[in-house]
Amino acid sequence: MKTHMFEQQGLGLAPFRCVAIIDSGPGNKKSCDHCGAGIRYAFEVVSRDGKSFNVGSDCALKTDDSGLRATVNRHLNALRRTQRYQRAVKPLLALLAQEDVRTRLAALPNPRGEHGRGNTALDFCTQVANDDRLFERVYKEAVAIARKAAL
Ligand SMILES: [Zn+2]
Repeated sequence: MKTHMFEQQGLGLAPFRCVAIIDSGPGNKKSCDHCGAGIRYAFEVVSRDGKSFNVGSDCALKTDDSGLRATVNRHLNALRRTQRYQRAVKPLLALLAQEDVRTRLAALPNPRGEHGRGNTALDFCTQVANDDRLFERVYKEAVAIARKAAL
């Protein structure tokens, strides 16, 4: 069996797994411990013997280590979901920042009825705006209600 490229480099013993993504912000402030390239998103990888290091997504995904690639992809998907959410939630947050919209939403019932958390449409819209998983499913409904309240 071929020796893992991270193991060859002395980064620890295989198998490796990704435990977190660290966003260092714009400007590639971190660097990949495998290739030295500047990276914005550092994938924190831990070896079997407990060594921890940071690599970029390219290096993390080009290994033959399917277990590592799976953990990297899981963190990558979560990051992409969060980024989509942060972009998409802006119009709803802008509506919810308007006091008159909030007042009108607070006077409307929660569209989920007694199954919803909280009694009002404001509770519903606020909950949707703050929960990225819920957000993917009911965003259009929440934005429609908030836009109607803004008229
Ligand atoms: Zn690299």
